[in-house]
Amino acid sequence: MKKHNFYAGPSILSEYTIKNTAAAILDFAGTGLSVLEVSHRSKEFQAVMDEATALVKELLDVPEGYSVLFLGGGASLQFCMVPFNLLARKAAYLETGTWASNAIKEARLFGEVDVVASSKDANFTFIPKGYTVPEDADYFHFTTNNTIYGTEMRYDPDVNVRLVADMSSDIFSRPVDVSKYDLIYAGAQKNLAPAGVTIVIVRDEALGRVDRPIPTMLDYRTHVKKGSMFNTPPVLPIYSALQTLRYYKELGGVKELEKMDLAKAAKLYDAIDSSRIFEGTVTDPADRSIMNVCFVMAPEYKELEKDFIDFATTKGIVGIKGHRSVGGFRASLYNALPMESVDVLVEAMKEFEAKH
Ligand SMILES: *Cc1c(COP(=O)(O)O)cnc(C)c1O
Repeated sequence: MKKHNFYAGPSILSEYTIKNTAAAILDFAGTGLSVLEVSHRSKEFQAVMDEATALVKELLDVPEGYSVLFLGGGASLQFCMVPFNLLARKAAYLETGTWASNAIKEARLFGEVDVVASSKDANFTFIPKGYTVPEDADYFHFTTNNTIYGTEMRYDPDVNVRLVADMSSDIFSRPVDVSKYDLIYAGAQKNLAPAGVTIVIVRDEALGRVDRPIPTMLDYRTHVKKGSMFNTPPVLPIYSALQTLRYYKELGGVKELEKMDLAKAAKLYDAIDSSRIFEGTVTDPADRSIMNVCFVMAPEYKELEKDFIDFATTKGIVGIKGHRSVGGFRASLYNALPMESVDVLVEAMKEFEAKH
């Protein structure tokens, strides 16, 4: 049976990415070798790195003066690398979910952290608004998409300091005004590639402004200078990332991807809103994520949650169990997920509702 992959991460990749990666595992760029066994310093892999870097710049319209890096360590390593490199005295953070909280915890190791607003007391069911970012902050850090809670900020906030964002789960789902950012980071396993590589887009001039010594591997300047080749980069995930980036370009870039993502999310939210037994968990519709749609059974149907997961499984639907801190269901609609999978899920919800 065809599977419909709604996992939150690692998550669905395009057939284009998977087929081309599989082919390169057998024969990489006509070398007669597997991409698993070639030197990262070979001219063939250097070409992969160069093209992947150029495509990130092209797709996100990255201005001059920024570097694109492909690093290991996941988005979680960025929680510490960002303040290590950018927090001289004080930074502002918006707390919108578990990942934001983790970033805040790390930043406190390096200086003063002003948490300008938090929706923690409401289990992160909304994005706080009306907060003030202190003008003397070195940067304002926020999470564009809260993967666990299904809230999203699909805009580049207007504040009077430089922006830093964790875009792990919604990068390449909308155009971004990169010029407002000192740094953007994204773990690849949500919208780009297999786990193991993290994209960092950093403004070169933002670096070198802190006095503290920074270990070589944790200093962005090391990786800028060496083109992400100071040490062995995650070769295979970078190869896959390149395939996805090519595919995104072929589809027409982030504006087109956004249109498709909006249409998929609208269909699923409509089904939730018009349902008697399902309901959304995000309080303000304006905060709803188009990447991770979180919903639960209405209180009087709560005991049916497990039954629905079992029922969905019989339709080939995989990975819709909600994160343990929210419960219910989470359908992740990343770029690679076809509309057909949303249709199957919506159909399953309707069929299940009709039976109860
Ligand atoms: C998944 C995720 C992370 C954690 O990524 P790792 O690569 O596992 O460290 C951080 N932030 C967001 C928004 C995520 O979705």
